[in-house]
Amino acid sequence: MTVLNTDTKVNLLDFDKPGLEAFFSEMGEKAFRASQVLKWMYQFGVDDFDAMSNLSKSLRDQLNKHTEVRAPEIVSEQRASDGVIKWLLRVDSGNCVETVYIPEEGRGTLCVSSQVGCALECGFCSTAQQGFNRNLSTAEIIGQLWRANQALECLPREQRVISNVVMMGMGEPLLNFDNVVRAMNLMTEDNAYGLSKRRVTISTSGIVPALDRLKEVSDVSLAVSLHAPTDELRNELVPINKKYPIKELLAACKRYIAGEAKRKVTFEYVMLDGINDTPAHARQLIKCLQGIPSKVNLIPFNPFPGTQYRSSSIATMDKFREILMKAGVITITRKTRGEDIDAACGQLAGKVKDRSKRKWRHEEQPITRTP
Ligand code: SAH
Repeated sequence: MTVLNTDTKVNLLDFDKPGLEAFFSEMGEKAFRASQVLKWMYQFGVDDFDAMSNLSKSLRDQLNKHTEVRAPEIVSEQRASDGVIKWLLRVDSGNCVETVYIPEEGRGTLCVSSQVGCALECGFCSTAQQGFNRNLSTAEIIGQLWRANQALECLPREQRVISNVVMMGMGEPLLNFDNVVRAMNLMTEDNAYGLSKRRVTISTSGIVPALDRLKEVSDVSLAVSLHAPTDELRNELVPINKKYPIKELLAACKRYIAGEAKRKVTFEYVMLDGINDTPAHARQLIKCLQGIPSKVNLIPFNPFPGTQYRSSSIATMDKFREILMKAGVITITRKTRGEDIDAACGQLAGKVKDRSKRKWRHEEQPITRTP
């Protein structure tokens, strides 16, 4: 039983269902133990093996000795006047990430982080300003949901208030591929959170090869941070565009939803005053999205200390939206939530210990930036 021969305990939140089944079989247990333990952990929020009453005493002893159920601890909780709650969660001695709960009419959305900091250097995003430290483990990603459910006192599952998850917190989820996929598997797994795949959304700045890999292993909803209709402008706003330009990104989006008639890609577009918000940009965007089943989500820019950018005015956003709608592009303006506690899109900062590792993390060489 090699996995159990170490001093450090194995965190069971690190496994998705197939992983947990393999783990139990290595322990000499039947595969159905995985479903039982998943239910205890996720549907009842239990982290104490002695409370898992349908497990044998000897299995509980084994689990107590070698394993644990450990989600990130809450360092602080802030509540906004509109009901949004932001938690600062400690993931290790020097690093914290933020998770945000957004209650809405008929649904509750949890915005989950995938990395400590971010390596992508989008100038309009506060997370990018703090640099990149490390990927979150599966346990640290799904543990945000585990902890939020506990803090919201909505266990067991029948009482849950979190109906949707968006991977839109700190980090670029597709640059932490395996851990994010495992965590999303647990979000949609019947024996765990059992959310519908339409209610789990991954947001990406557009890591094209990873998007193609994602299609092989998952079918959650896709949101893409487009923010500009031309390569020239997108290179500036979302520098990873120099590596994966718009044409390639949109082709990958098409491939992601291919074969499913009703599916759409959501394109996020942050409204930056005087930068990407003119009627000409709107018309270019319409052209750009032609032939792709899509929705556009206009996001008012949320300011953070030290930023040069300003949000477009409401009138400018309305005009932009109107041009898109007239051309038949479904467009909504995202309501800014949790502003008074800096919990809105792009405002999540957490706490990052080592900011020195500020470079793109993926298989290939980082692209060079123009001076
Ligand atoms: N790295 C992923 C997830 C990031 S956050 C991605 O790029 O998609 C989710 C959304 O908030 C992204 O569309 C991001 O570009 C946007 N965003 C970042 N900073 C923002 C800000 N200051 N104001 C409004 N939206 C912002």
